[in-house]
Amino acid sequence: MNCKVAGYAKLNFMLDILGTLPHGYHEVYMLMQSISLSDTVTLTETDSGRITVKCDIDAIPTDERNTAFRAATAFFETTGLPRPGLDIYIEKAIPHAAGLAGGSADAAAVLAGLNELYQTRMSERALMQIGRGIGADVPFCQSGGLMLAQYDGTVLSALPTPALGPIVVVKPDCAVSTADAFTAFDTAERVRHLDRGGMLRAVMQNDRDGIFQRIGNVFEQFIDVPERVVIKAILRNNGARCTCMSGSGPSVFGIFDNRSDAETAVSELQRSFSRVYLCDPMPQGVRILERP
Ligand code: ATP
Repeated sequence: MNCKVAGYAKLNFMLDILGTLPHGYHEVYMLMQSISLSDTVTLTETDSGRITVKCDIDAIPTDERNTAFRAATAFFETTGLPRPGLDIYIEKAIPHAAGLAGGSADAAAVLAGLNELYQTRMSERALMQIGRGIGADVPFCQSGGLMLAQYDGTVLSALPTPALGPIVVVKPDCAVSTADAFTAFDTAERVRHLDRGGMLRAVMQNDRDGIFQRIGNVFEQFIDVPERVVIKAILRNNGARCTCMSGSGPSVFGIFDNRSDAETAVSELQRSFSRVYLCDPMPQGVRILERP
């Protein structure tokens, strides 16, 4: 039997870091939004007795380091279901190491797909508990929409999704290490924090302008993404109401009032950048595309 699932990328509409938690993780305050850019994960039951992962791009490890592999292993360990064998095929559309949670989206898609394939009827909470063991962003990707993520990123509160408009995402070619980004934060002499309370109020009041004014990412103070200035300028010149980096970067996004401005920005950006995406906000983190 087969099951095909879409796992959606995320953007950080707000990313602030409050300090370090007793177990060493950073305490974060993030507003995360699922967007329509998605990987497609196909799960096929086999009788090989093994879990295998294949991916349509070479840069992604397909062994036990792969988040999809880890999610499937954790699913079988937690449920105690017998493992006749499983082939996982990942079609990547979400650029990796981009601050868009591509690996987490794949893990979330695997958990949703296996739950469907085996009809376990596990609660969303129990499935998210498995996801949490794979990575801090996985529970968000399992649930999706617009959420406030606190503590180590796994304490989630669903928020109403304001109608913000089309989003253009650009992934410049440079790479950013998330570990280096946190080290830069830890060693920074001064950090300008974000207007977290104001942002939450703006979201709850559906105050679009208030949201645009407060969108921000504390990592922009420490992470050098040389292309960021150019990308933001093109987004702004074409009518973006706000621009921001997502996660620890290097992806940068802008939100527009209308599709035609967003399309013009995409055309101009494509002259200098190969990875430019016109997206919409999504109300969920995963979607079953083909049921068994
Ligand atoms: P985040 O926003 O959560 O920090 P990211 O966009 O920075 O995520 P990912 O796309 O998840 O980063 O990839 C980070 C690294 O994880 C990759 O460079 C790759 O080596 C590894 N990885 C393992 N499994 C996957 C997967 N299924 N998809 C993408 N990368 C994976």
